[in-house]
Amino acid sequence: MKFIDDAAHGFASQLDGQWLGSYHDGAFFSFEYSKNLTGGIGGLAIFPPGMTGMTTPQQDWPELSCADEWRLLATLKAHLLSARWPLLGRITMAINRRLGLIYRSADAEVSQGMPHPVRAMPLLSTVLVRRQLAHLPATLAHKQALAQRYQQALAALPSITQWAVPAGAACHWVRYPFALSCPQANKAAVARRLSQASGLNIGVWFDDVIHPAGSFRHAYVAGSAPQGERLAATVLNLPMNIALADNAALAHKLDRLLAELRRIEKENIQ
Ligand SMILES: *Cc1c(COP(=O)(O)O)cnc(C)c1O
Repeated sequence: MKFIDDAAHGFASQLDGQWLGSYHDGAFFSFEYSKNLTGGIGGLAIFPPGMTGMTTPQQDWPELSCADEWRLLATLKAHLLSARWPLLGRITMAINRRLGLIYRSADAEVSQGMPHPVRAMPLLSTVLVRRQLAHLPATLAHKQALAQRYQQALAALPSITQWAVPAGAACHWVRYPFALSCPQANKAAVARRLSQASGLNIGVWFDDVIHPAGSFRHAYVAGSAPQGERLAATVLNLPMNIALADNAALAHKLDRLLAELRRIEKENIQ
């Protein structure tokens, strides 16, 4: 039996000094829109030598259709806009959706586990990934600075859970997670409230034990992963992106976030 790691957003991160994705026989990393290294969609896989079914030479892989290349470009653009201007990003995404210009996995892939056909990586994705790889050290340093800033700010509220990363450990953040002290019936509403108060884009990842929420759940029986369920109901996250400057404006936003978090934690106790 072979064991392949899901290291989807573990690229350039270590745990106890070992690179994520190097623990078992192989690993895959995702270049999907939301990941720390992104080409829009697609990914990178490391397979154990001699694994059957993976011997197709890459030159023979079909290219993305022209229509899908345009969809990919339009979807990427909307995600890029969202990183800086969430409202503009949402509007662009809504327009794309109406025009049928969203490039994403088919519904059957999520609900029925239909395999995705193999495709050559689109040129657009290749250019994007290579550019990010060239800037990787600077990106990691910037994210490290943001993480430190977040960690110090949230430390003022001891009821909030954080996950410390040892100094000097390689960590390629996707988002910066923190957890409230009590499970939230409507975590999305809490995230919206915090975003409005702070001006920071507060996320809800992950909001279900099985992701994406509302997908097939793959025979998951409620209650069988109590810690996972509790985390899904309490964890929120802060943005980790290179467009976000580590400056006085961010410090002000974090002050506002803390004030609102303090209110929420107090309401939860009552
Ligand atoms: C994003 C993600 C995936 C799926 O990656 P795709 O490239 O979208 O197929 C799998 N596992 C984890 C943990 C992920 O975050």
